[in-house]
Amino acid sequence: MPPTTQVRREGRVLDEVEAARDELVAFTSEMIRIPTVNPPGERYRDCAELIGRRLAAGGFAVHYVEAEGRPEHTAAHPRVNVVARRAAAGKGPRLHLNGHFDVVPPGEGWSVDPFAGLVRDGRIYGRGASDMKSGIAAALFAVEAVRRAGIELAGTVDFSATVDEESGGFAGVAHLCEAGIISGADTDYAIIPEPFGPTRVCVGHRGVYWFDAIAHGRAAHGSMSHLGHSAIDDIGALLEALRTGLGPQLARRLSALPVVPEPSRRPSLNVNALTGGQAGEPSQSPCVADRAVATFDRRFIPEEPLDEVRAEIGRVVAALEREDPARRFTIEDRMVVLPTSAPSGSPLVATLSDAVRDVCGEDAELVASPGTYDQKHFARIAGIEHCVAYGPGPLEEAHQSDESCAVDDLVAATGVLALTVLRLLRRA
Ligand SMILES: [Zn+2]
Repeated sequence: MPPTTQVRREGRVLDEVEAARDELVAFTSEMIRIPTVNPPGERYRDCAELIGRRLAAGGFAVHYVEAEGRPEHTAAHPRVNVVARRAAAGKGPRLHLNGHFDVVPPGEGWSVDPFAGLVRDGRIYGRGASDMKSGIAAALFAVEAVRRAGIELAGTVDFSATVDEESGGFAGVAHLCEAGIISGADTDYAIIPEPFGPTRVCVGHRGVYWFDAIAHGRAAHGSMSHLGHSAIDDIGALLEALRTGLGPQLARRLSALPVVPEPSRRPSLNVNALTGGQAGEPSQSPCVADRAVATFDRRFIPEEPLDEVRAEIGRVVAALEREDPARRFTIEDRMVVLPTSAPSGSPLVATLSDAVRDVCGEDAELVASPGTYDQKHFARIAGIEHCVAYGPGPLEEAHQSDESCAVDDLVAATGVLALTVLRLLRRA
């Protein structure tokens, strides 16, 4: 095809995106008005069906996949995912677009109704406005703009809108990957429109090691505490040893992965929770605590092998036990997520980056996420390595009160995604 024809086609697609501005905003607001709060997983079916109807209107074959067999899939809170396909006649590559429609609870501090989908001064407000109902709208209308421009793609577009990303994605993307519905066997590329902003392409994320450190003490009467051994004191010693011993070591490490915000390029260890003795019980009896638990959230960078992440915690524990033989700790894993990133030189990253420059007029910034999201399931279960996150909302507003997304950013990201779809899947 002569280059001028391609330019004209791309111009038509971007015109269709601009023409759909009001529909984009209205659809995002409509999704926000369904409070898909997780936990516990409210109104999932309603939101899945809203997205499903919109996909069907855009020529997709739509079906719903419930997370049968998952314990969190209950009659009160069914886990309903929507999966759709617009198959191409040609043998072009296959692209999967995926977004999660669950949102975290609204929390305190809102100046607007978090579930009204209010539009004011060029911004859409509400829980999920950034993370990531605007992203779902952008991906959906990107494909729709190509269709409205009358362009037939040579490659197939798959679309899924899924549940439970905020609680690990096990009944959502992981379930679809395990069932073979999302598979690297037939999928070349995947884009997840998580909120990184219209000029940032997110290539991957850091790892997570979540674990409990349990101190085992010896109970005694509180009036004769010398007869016991306090598990709470031992947890105190562990916290101090990790803070002063391991903390400075972590602060010296820096990842080559371009994690944003910048301080998250270094690994970290956060104490997520602390319990011990008769914590939380309104009336207490005098006892030396025989058990105390600290839950840790260790974020690690690709340069840190998981074995070493574990071993250095083990060394701190062993040193404390040597120092006082009455101390005894056990470590129990809660969750491990390995770091992941798209391969360098991925054509998906290059195509998205070019589209950012063409639509936004500035160079794309390649970033990585400080926290994990569903990319891990695409990479590790489905085996789709060319997977990135690209979406309109501001990352910093995710999970905050007065969460919002600029309408201009929503339209720009939709344009970038539309050009990306067109360029990746065009007739060869
Ligand atoms: Zn998200």
